[in-house]
Amino acid sequence: MLPGYVAGLYNFDQCHIDLRPLAKFAGARIFVDRAIGLDLEKNQILCANRPPVNFDLLSIDIGSTPASLTVPGATEYAIGVKPISKFLTYWHHITTMVSASPTQKMRIGIVGGGAGGVELAFAVQSHLHQIYRDAKQPTDNLELHLFQRGTRLLPERHRWVGKEVEKILKSRGVVLHLEENVGEVAAHSDFATDARMNYGKTQLTSDSDLGTEENVREVAAHSDFATDARMNYGKAKPTSDSDLGSDVGMNDRKNQQNTPNILTPKIINCDSGLEVECDILFWVTQASAAPWLQKAGLATDARGFILVNEKLQSISHSQVFAAGDVATMVNHSRPKAGVFAVRQGKPLFENLQRALLGKPLKSFIPQKKFLILIGTGDERAIASRDRIGVGPHQFLWRWKDRIDRKFMDKFSNLTMEGKKQNIEGKRQDSPMHCAGCGAKVGSRVLENVLHKIPQKIQRDDILIGIDTPDDAAVVRVPTDKVMVQTIDYFRGLVDDPYLLGKITANHCLSDLFAMGATPQSGLAIATIPYAAPTKQEDSLYQLLLGATQVLNQAGAVLMGGHTTEGEELAFGLTCNGLASPEKLLHNRGMQPGDVLILTKPLGTGTLFAADMRLKARGRWIESAIKSMLVSNQNSAELLLEYGATACTDVTGFGLVGHLLEMLKGQKVGVELNMEAIPMLPGVAETLEQDIFSSLYPENLQLSASIQNREQASLHPLYPLLFDPQTSGGLLATVPAESASACLNALQQEYHESRVIGRVLLLDTGMLPIKINF
Ligand SMILES: Cc1cc2nc3c(=O)[nH]c(=O)nc-3n(C[C@H](O)[C@H](O)[C@H](O)COP(=O)(O)OP(=O)(O)OC[C@H]3O[C@@H](n4cnc5c(N)ncnc54)[C@H](O)[C@@H]3O)c2cc1C
Repeated sequence: MLPGYVAGLYNFDQCHIDLRPLAKFAGARIFVDRAIGLDLEKNQILCANRPPVNFDLLSIDIGSTPASLTVPGATEYAIGVKPISKFLTYWHHITTMVSASPTQKMRIGIVGGGAGGVELAFAVQSHLHQIYRDAKQPTDNLELHLFQRGTRLLPERHRWVGKEVEKILKSRGVVLHLEENVGEVAAHSDFATDARMNYGKTQLTSDSDLGTEENVREVAAHSDFATDARMNYGKAKPTSDSDLGSDVGMNDRKNQQNTPNILTPKIINCDSGLEVECDILFWVTQASAAPWLQKAGLATDARGFILVNEKLQSISHSQVFAAGDVATMVNHSRPKAGVFAVRQGKPLFENLQRALLGKPLKSFIPQKKFLILIGTGDERAIASRDRIGVGPHQFLWRWKDRIDRKFMDKFSNLTMEGKKQNIEGKRQDSPMHCAGCGAKVGSRVLENVLHKIPQKIQRDDILIGIDTPDDAAVVRVPTDKVMVQTIDYFRGLVDDPYLLGKITANHCLSDLFAMGATPQSGLAIATIPYAAPTKQEDSLYQLLLGATQVLNQAGAVLMGGHTTEGEELAFGLTCNGLASPEKLLHNRGMQPGDVLILTKPLGTGTLFAADMRLKARGRWIESAIKSMLVSNQNSAELLLEYGATACTDVTGFGLVGHLLEMLKGQKVGVELNMEAIPMLPGVAETLEQDIFSSLYPENLQLSASIQNREQASLHPLYPLLFDPQTSGGLLATVPAESASACLNALQQEYHESRVIGRVLLLDTGMLPIKINF
């Protein structure tokens, strides 16, 4: 469906499998990260941004990337069609540029005349022509070049198919360069010395490809791209895919220093001496494998793909399975095509189960002949199987469309119905588990874990802590300071223990920041699901590592804690901070005329409630997690610096609940500006479906304190005011005269910070909150 998306025939969600709800449905944990290596002795997957993940069995399905990016200049100047997320990032930007400046010429090259390159050419042309037509501009503003090393297109298919495709491409004005081997891609001389070229090695051109839609949005929001005079393209505006546009926000500023060379003019040098100038170059050549597979010691073929037997099991490491493009079956090598990847799914699943149960594995032999349907970008397709080829026809496109949609439908509208029963069934079968101190996680597990947790900082005021275990921790409090203490404990709202550790620590530390205290130490309490000791050790390690990293970053150390076994993962922390008594920041103290600032967007309650029901898109949850991982430390310091008169952190009682705590006993009220309240991506959608957290009804009782409750409750975002937050932002009042400077300073790091209301004198008998909208 990728070419259909590029052609503008599908939207993002129609052609993407949302892994987060799928994983939840399957009862699998999802870790959103990039695998960068394997330790096959320790059976660990090494990841880019998290601790290694242990496995008993490993199944690898990471696909391929186009080969030949080794051609000089290709890495710097060409866009590989894989990883798809990165390719789509650029594609989104290109369509935005063309939409913004349709009077400008655009020259695009595609290297690779196989099925992928050809379909991409059709799709690119179709979409960009539509943009030109909509803008009443000539379609020949687009110049499209297709480079193919061989004498014909689609060399792996029947000759007729190649010839037919060639005919159609030529008739549509695509410039074909057959028998041309691209030997080098170089900067256009006008650009080679340009200082801007130094931006080239950026996050976007690097291999951090797993951002999915996030990357698409980051580039879309890139102001440098949009205004770069050299590109002669005007100010970018959002593209047609409204869903992509709607989530722009949290990372807008992140890439403002980066302008990839990939979007500047370049020269394509062919071995024959042919030179072609292009603005954009796509690379769709034969597939190659991630180099770390071979480096890990797995047996691979000449191109680095994992060699597997008929059981889809690595021929060198029986604990490793592989399928799809990344695998090559030793006696049944086939082209790298989705049709094989899809068919391997069932036998792979069965063999993984069998391997776990110690049963003999089953053989799977892929078919030799297969059908391909090549979309021609105009809702028609050509069919090719073995020596037969037909088309292009509309009915072939409809057929292809039906097959694809049917496949995608299997992954949509998943429900958790029936799932609970399974879990309860498991509970009945499980062995008896003790309570009281008999429920503690084994001492060896604990010892092993504590041994591995690195404390990045040492503090002299921790007299007895993790390094010197005793019955209790002992800390020193300087005579001029007071100790500020807080405690939080959660069921795992994410099932990744490492993230849960980080989120909980952030959440708990927020109480200290809201009081103007400096974190000093923490004690942990962890509930680890029943499992074999090695699995428990891993969960506990990841949990404590995440928490310790956040504590250490805030200057605090983990001093000790308590563990227990239980039905599900849960984690809590007691955090201690130190503060000068005169500098404590209280939640009461707001003055008439002050403005109310909120530093993070709201919506974690409704989003995670939707996540539990498989109703949240993975990217919404990713944004929520990202927000929950943001520390409130710097915002608290800024608020203090700008003379905050009151401060609290927004957590379980929701915005209104915490605001009421700030207002208690005060002779002031607050006017909230509904439209200014920042919210996380996806919140409008989940609220529209009436998806609320289980604490929401209780919080909603507080609406009795709203002056214009009846009127306000008609607003579709009204429930957001009562949404319980995990690791939410700070809610503070600052004097009106410093509000603007304070907000500017906050927004450098807390991009979603907003002024959401103001403080007023309260007339006697009036309810304290009024909502403006
Ligand atoms: C333009 C184009 C058109 C195509 N048209 C067709 C067609 O019509 N019919 C057909 O049969 N085939 C087609 N193909 C080929 C098809 O897309 C692939 O064969 C198929 O997607 C392979 O499936 P896979 O699961 O092995 O890998 P992929 O679909 O590539 O999935 C691999 C996944 O792994 C993730 N990943 C990669 N590296 C890592 C890492 N280090 N850590 C964690 N995750 C990682 C990726 O993000 C990706 O989501 C086309 C390909 C292209 C480029």
